Amino acid sequence: MTTILTKSFPQDKQPLTKPAPGKKRVLIVGGGFAGIAAARALKRTDVEIRLIDRRNHHIFQPLLYQVATAVLAPSEIAAPIRQLEAKQKNLSVLLAEIRGINLATRIVEVACPGIGSRKLEYDFLVIATGMRPSYFGHDEFARFAPGLKSLNDAETIRAKILSAFELAESTDDEKERARQMTFVLVGAGPTGVELAASIAQLVSVTLRNNFRKIDPAKSRIVLLDGGTRILPTFAESLARKAANRLTKLGVEVSTGVKVEKVDDQGVIAAGNRIPAATVLWTAGVSASPVVKMLGTQTDRAGRAFVGAFMDIPEAPNVFVAGDAATMTQDGHPVPGVAQAAIQQGRFVGHVIANRVRGRNDGRPFRYRNKGNMAVVGKNFAILEAGYLRSSGFVTWWVWAALHVLALPQLQNRFRVQTQWFWSYLSGQRSSRLISEGPRSSSSQQ
Ligand SMILES: Cc1cc2nc3c(=O)[nH]c(=O)nc-3n(C[C@H](O)[C@H](O)[C@H](O)COP(=O)(O)OP(=O)(O)OC[C@H]3O[C@@H](n4cnc5c(N)ncnc54)[C@H](O)[C@@H]3O)c2cc1C
Repeated sequence: MTTILTKSFPQDKQPLTKPAPGKKRVLIVGGGFAGIAAARALKRTDVEIRLIDRRNHHIFQPLLYQVATAVLAPSEIAAPIRQLEAKQKNLSVLLAEIRGINLATRIVEVACPGIGSRKLEYDFLVIATGMRPSYFGHDEFARFAPGLKSLNDAETIRAKILSAFELAESTDDEKERARQMTFVLVGAGPTGVELAASIAQLVSVTLRNNFRKIDPAKSRIVLLDGGTRILPTFAESLARKAANRLTKLGVEVSTGVKVEKVDDQGVIAAGNRIPAATVLWTAGVSASPVVKMLGTQTDRAGRAFVGAFMDIPEAPNVFVAGDAATMTQDGHPVPGVAQAAIQQGRFVGHVIANRVRGRNDGRPFRYRNKGNMAVVGKNFAILEAGYLRSSGFVTWWVWAALHVLALPQLQNRFRVQTQWFWSYLSGQRSSRLISEGPRSSSSQQ
């Protein structure tokens, strides 16, 4: 068996944690959709589960763009992992970051904040550490164009957008005012589209009459993409409808445009400079660096190639699930979406449960696509499920209902419904505070 030790374990005094006698130890890294689903699938299995995450909370990422545009507060779309899993007696949560993995000795080294390094033994290891923004080899863009992956990112973006209007109101320089009121989004996938539409409604409805020198409705919102069309994962007819809707909302959509530079003045795209104080990166993603610690084969985005049972060839007791894994089904890649992550996590949990009970693995993993949705501002969403394609007002209601139901806790559902109801009727957004203090984007993991 291959031994891969990406970082040598220091000779610290932290003892190795010993498993309870007779119990198999399952280590799950990542409390996102895949990690939580894997843990829950092991609820009735006689194992000792340790769920490790460097954050204390699980984030419902599909609504992150609403935190970034002041519709919702961070706590409304997130939940403490400890609280989510409080009733699962065979599970404990550890706030820690992975430092190294030794497949031969079955030991993971983690860094616990304030305590230092610890070594944890495992019988089964599940890596579900997700993705992070990728700047396609231009990491220098990250300083000027935050991605949207964490609550920190969403708050950074929210502060950037809201501050731009404050600066536009206070300056007497017309050029600078125009720059402050220009928002460029790089990448027209679902996140870019949802974010652009939400900014468009913020400027035309929520901020109306709030300023004396500027008219926020005159802001420029530019959505750029290097591909031939927006929303490439949706059918062309739906993407066209979404593009028309964006245009109606006042968003300038430009496809086939490569962004060459991002700096403190804006972007240079297809040779033209667009002066913009706010540039947001919604273009690419790459897998968490934890995957590299496995030393297994990865694709260009750093995702681990997994087998039919989501395990890696080097170690059949090590699984990769969710966005951190890549696999094809019927000639197409399984998409990096929440439902795929949940199904994979649940599947891995069942495989481990079977192995602990001495049963065979059962059938290989098969992804069941229940449909994809994207929302384009108020009253308009698109849906693609098998041969079904729909768009418009009713689809938007379906989108809203499904997202409320999918939130992690009852209190999130209640609070999001209330906020949406208020926002729908009044056009107001209740999370418009620009908080003080240093901000660091967690995108750069
Ligand atoms: C802005 C945005 C909008 C989206 N919208 C949709 C949508 O509308 N519909 C949809 O289906 N999908 C959507 N997605 C995709 C979906 O959220 C992902 O596919 C899903 O979150 C993947 O789940 P995961 O468990 O693999 O990873 P994640 O949910 O990203 O969880 C990974 C976890 O691993 C932890 N972690 C990472 N590195 C370490 C480390 N070194 N040590 C310890 N812990 C670590 C992280 O803190 C995190 O909790 C969206 C994603 C984003 C970013």
